[in-house]
Amino acid sequence: MEKRELGRTREKIPVLGMGTWEIGDAQNERRALEIKALRRGIELGMTLIDSAEMYGYGNAEKLVGQAIKGIRDDVFIATKVSPQHFGYEDVLSSCENSIRRLGVEHIDLYQLHWPSDQVPIEETMKAMEELVARGKIRYIGVSNFSVAQTLKAREALPRSEIVSNQLRYSLTRRSIEAELLPFCEREKLTVIAYSPLDTGKLPTSKIPQALLDKYAMTPAQLMLNWVTYRDAVVAIPKAAKVEHVEKNAAAVSTRISPDDYQALSRIFE
Ligand code: NAP
Repeated sequence: MEKRELGRTREKIPVLGMGTWEIGDAQNERRALEIKALRRGIELGMTLIDSAEMYGYGNAEKLVGQAIKGIRDDVFIATKVSPQHFGYEDVLSSCENSIRRLGVEHIDLYQLHWPSDQVPIEETMKAMEELVARGKIRYIGVSNFSVAQTLKAREALPRSEIVSNQLRYSLTRRSIEAELLPFCEREKLTVIAYSPLDTGKLPTSKIPQALLDKYAMTPAQLMLNWVTYRDAVVAIPKAAKVEHVEKNAAAVSTRISPDDYQALSRIFE
């Protein structure tokens, strides 16, 4: 699996990871299948796992914890704190709770899930830096932050960098291309593309068959190849089915040509 630098950290993360929204709520058989899917993805190199304290009210993190038992050092764990917990003490306790549910000693990337208009960013970032100092988290990221919000968040961090912004991005959802993506590229922030398959609404009929044939890819694979074409982007498709995980991991083994990238971009402009 191709790897890319996270921000300016020199840490390498895979160009495709795995999302965990709506994973971990089921019981028994389905739960076992979700664990199997995550483990298979890790085996295939999709070792970046993205979760959040709000996914299934902690159930997604618990399931990730089960899936990574015994292989924690093979994975890069990203999770998120929710805006209602952006107060100083709340950030510290949310992080402890995530660490406990995940069954890890530290979180690799801790992200602010959405901007908050309730808690000053300075207060939240003070707690994030304290977590770095205590060794509870390694890197700080944001999610759904505009350029102005990212700049403000950066100013509130005297000792650390913001390494990533997790944003909605897919062939069919392109709004970040106007401002946010060029900003992240310039400033060396990794864009973690969420819903890279547009939550499973694949635009199958609009993708030229000739292109699918040329690269022997499914529409989903072509979408993942397309979304990670630019160096600043990694993507975190969610797949509860092992066959989807295997297809996704194979989606970036070759790169579509610059001409095909442009052609596909134009079709969905
Ligand atoms: P997504 O990854 O775009 O799409 C997931 C859907 O695509 C699922 O229904 C999945 O089916 C299907 N799928 C996966 N691989 C496929 C394949 N090879 N062929 C056909 N269908 C395939 O949507 P998402 O879950 O919204 O986004 C991914 C992750 O981003 C989330 O899980 C979460 O971690 C993160 N996220 C973050 C935010 C944020 O605010 N930061 C918001 C939304 C999501 P199966 O599950 O049945 O395999």
